[in-house]
Amino acid sequence: MKYALLNGKKITAQPNLMATCLCCGAEVKSYCGEINQYHWRHLNKKQCDLWYENETEWHRDWKNYFDSSYQEVVKHDSKTGEKHIADIYNPKKEVVIELQHSPIKPNEIRAREQFYNRMIWVIDLIGVDKNLSFINDKFNLEYQLTKMRQNPTEKIEVPDSFAISEIEKEMNALSSILRLPDKDENMDYLRALEDEYKKLCKLPNHYLMLWKYRHKYWEASSKHKFIDIGTNTLYELVARVQFGNAYIVKAHDKNKFIVHYQ
Ligand SMILES: [Zn+2]
Repeated sequence: MKYALLNGKKITAQPNLMATCLCCGAEVKSYCGEINQYHWRHLNKKQCDLWYENETEWHRDWKNYFDSSYQEVVKHDSKTGEKHIADIYNPKKEVVIELQHSPIKPNEIRAREQFYNRMIWVIDLIGVDKNLSFINDKFNLEYQLTKMRQNPTEKIEVPDSFAISEIEKEMNALSSILRLPDKDENMDYLRALEDEYKKLCKLPNHYLMLWKYRHKYWEASSKHKFIDIGTNTLYELVARVQFGNAYIVKAHDKNKFIVHYQ
């Protein structure tokens, strides 16, 4: 944890300090090594909040955008006595922001969403963003066809846009010259994407995001989810395409997002 209580004050870890846990009130000790960020750990080594994720630099960077009073805020259910440490809580908006770096079980997603109720997720996909493709441009037919000519057996994974009838015409014309064994499969995929695209991608700032090896557990979530890929844009998952690994996403300016919740 970044914070603990000492003399009634919420403080960060400094070398050789003892304090009490914000959540359970047990004794915590400061850990101030050279590699890990300064942090507090329970003396008995057991984290009291099982939802608490080991902090990465990414967590710290996000927390630091907000006032210390908004960071690591203990929320409790007065009926059940259950307590958890929210990564960020904005009391004016009464919204919790949960920062998620590691894989998470669907049950835990549901439990956290039920507990916090008014909450959003920010999901760390930095480093795995190579598995993401964002599509918003007009279809570059020439490019796509050149690729197909060069390697006719390669499955189309990332269509550049959705002028499907155009591609189909071209592909039929080419089929006598080229051998396209996956042609039907590719066309089914493109048609399904085109349908979704027509529905949603015409909205401003909306993109189709292809997510190779997508994290299926996020389908258990019913709250707003924003993907951080380490750029100035956060991508909100708006809807999952019922075909393949694609999502409709909405791009948000990261700075504006942060200012909004500060
Ligand atoms: Zn504790």
